[in-house]
Amino acid sequence: MPVKKFLNYLIEADFKNNIPTSGGAKKASAIGNNSKTIKSIDVDTVCPRKEYVEFDCKDDKEKKLFLQRLDAEKPGAAQEFLDNLEKAKKQGNWKECSYCYVKGARDKGEHFFLAKKRHEDTQYASSNILNMRQNVVDKLNAVGGIRLFSHSDYKPRKKAMIAQILNDAAKRGLDVKAITKVPQFVETFVNDQYPALKLVNVSIDTTGDGMSYEDALRLKNEHPDKVKIRAVITNLKDLLDPFMKNVDVFTFYHGSAKKLKAMGYTNFTGKDRDALGDKTFASSEKLPPQDQALAPEIDQAIDKLHLNKKTCCIGSHCSKCNLKCGGGNCGLPDITESKIVKFSDFLEFETDIESYVCETWKQQLEGEEE
Ligand code: SF4
Repeated sequence: MPVKKFLNYLIEADFKNNIPTSGGAKKASAIGNNSKTIKSIDVDTVCPRKEYVEFDCKDDKEKKLFLQRLDAEKPGAAQEFLDNLEKAKKQGNWKECSYCYVKGARDKGEHFFLAKKRHEDTQYASSNILNMRQNVVDKLNAVGGIRLFSHSDYKPRKKAMIAQILNDAAKRGLDVKAITKVPQFVETFVNDQYPALKLVNVSIDTTGDGMSYEDALRLKNEHPDKVKIRAVITNLKDLLDPFMKNVDVFTFYHGSAKKLKAMGYTNFTGKDRDALGDKTFASSEKLPPQDQALAPEIDQAIDKLHLNKKTCCIGSHCSKCNLKCGGGNCGLPDITESKIVKFSDFLEFETDIESYVCETWKQQLEGEEE
């Protein structure tokens, strides 16, 4: 089947799987297809920060209604939400992340094909995991597990659903890897009670959008086998931040929206990531004129931080990656040694889809800029 046709089929299938609720709204399935990681799980698609910003814009009546809804969902959830919002405001990290891909896609309109719809809740049934086909479980485990949190992040009021997902995954033998900016997620779920949760990446950055350095380091020190630090690199100068020596996984920002460029972010292409891998990457080509003098220092940092081994997305698909979110074969403890991926036709096909998606997105963004 041609790639475009198959992609259209996937989008259509996802649409058909939406389940009407009593309010007439539709709930999407918690488990969705993901072109890079194969599948991912989200218990909603509105991240906590988006929720904080939206709450702040509401009038008093709307705020009251929202808080009532939270309490109806889980008693005490409203107070918990207010406490977390206050804490986030104090820490200065309650606004949407400046580099958010979900927002970037959604801002292009709900019909933009990568714009995951906004869902306050998604639909999960234990059978989604318990009845998962063995070959799918094997493929996911071979890339370090199914990814938890792709379009949103942890909200304490969703604890029961996450616990159910992790318990079902343990029964099914499905590994789970999570990416989060919420310390409470690690504090709640990284323990012997949830053995399916094999790896958590706590996400930091130099822009002030991510988890605080202190929390990230504390959590990594408390759980060195399971918690790894992931950094979003928005421009090469980030690599000179002394904290980077603690980082296990580097994600190079990619996107070309005009406003992000204006903020001084660099668009790192797949070619750039792969060049980091074979050490032919020239920092000077990615630095603006005023920062050219930093190029030798940055080249040294690339070497010293082992970016050829610690960069996410080299090869553009998790199946081609040895790093495996910090749990793979990169000089760190290897949890996937016996699970070397065979490049089945399916995975090659997935990679084709990713190329198609990336190319189309790039064309749309470039079109927008012209
Ligand atoms: S580090 Fe590797 S396995 Fe983890 S998300 Fe990136 S490409 Fe996938």
